[in-house]
Amino acid sequence: MSELVDLRSDTLTRPTEAMRAAMARAEVGDDVYGEDPTVLELEERVAGLFGHEAALFTPTGSMANVLAVGSLVAPGQEVLCESSAHIARAELGAHAAIGGITMRTWTGHRGRPDLAAIRSLFAPDMGPFFVRTAAVAVENTHNFAGGAVTPLEQLQELREWATGVGTGVHLDGARIWNAHVATDTPLAEYGAIADVLAVCLSKGLGAPIGSLMVGSRDAVDEARVRRKRMGGGMRQVGILAAAGLHALDHHLERLAEDHAHARLLAEACGLDPETVDSNIVVVERHDAPAYVAAAAEHGVRIATVGPTAVRMVTHLDVSREDAERAAQVLTKIS
Ligand SMILES: *Cc1c(COP(=O)(O)O)cnc(C)c1O
Repeated sequence: MSELVDLRSDTLTRPTEAMRAAMARAEVGDDVYGEDPTVLELEERVAGLFGHEAALFTPTGSMANVLAVGSLVAPGQEVLCESSAHIARAELGAHAAIGGITMRTWTGHRGRPDLAAIRSLFAPDMGPFFVRTAAVAVENTHNFAGGAVTPLEQLQELREWATGVGTGVHLDGARIWNAHVATDTPLAEYGAIADVLAVCLSKGLGAPIGSLMVGSRDAVDEARVRRKRMGGGMRQVGILAAAGLHALDHHLERLAEDHAHARLLAEACGLDPETVDSNIVVVERHDAPAYVAAAAEHGVRIATVGPTAVRMVTHLDVSREDAERAAQVLTKIS
């Protein structure tokens, strides 16, 4: 069997030698005291990229989402989101278990916001009768919709409506970097449609650990308290922030290569490569586990995301050669 190409997730990347060197060099301090200069630099830089006042480093994207949604939605209130959103499906009920938050969902084409559906779900404050909608959450790119990008205009329309009715907007931007590179949309334009965001450094950007919640100074100050309460107050964490700064310097523009590799894989699976917006390919197969096993036999690791759905994700540790090799295998077993 040939060497493995691992396409199960873009979280599988290992820090490069250069990233490890940057981590080793990092100036550090106690971040619970607000004294880690590298963390402060990363938080300020990421807040600036999105045009917001402040940001907060967290160990995971799930924690950044819980802090961000929780800054808009109080216990006993609800957030509206797409039915296959990461916050609904993949955070193990954290928003309910930790935040006391309920959810109602719409099902969107390619995971996108459906403003008509959102308007009909929306419940303003109606006293002791209905759960109040305190926020709408969107995800861009959308993980389970196959890395789909939501057009900026649709997000702007949602923002305008939400401001009009006085409800918050959260953007789960774990892969907002991919949307930015795929469409050339400035990060600040995405920042402008949301009150709060969560962004990950540990997906396509290739850092080993780290995400940030981004928002107003007040929201971030309050989230800093809740982060500590959840056990997420870390100390000399500049070592990890340095990996994030390195990733922003060296691994952002190269995401375009991952997108090209994903289109290659899509074509090999018989999909129109134009339907692949970024670094994720989701393919329907009548027996997903059997297809995954067949790929593994040929040295290509992919993952099921449902009984008939298979997901493959390109990333920093998948070279052009790897992608071509995987494409050959996928053509053979289709
Ligand atoms: C990966 C991911 C997250 C965060 O996941 P963690 O494993 O908690 O870091 C959040 N949202 C989306 C859409 C993701 O793909």
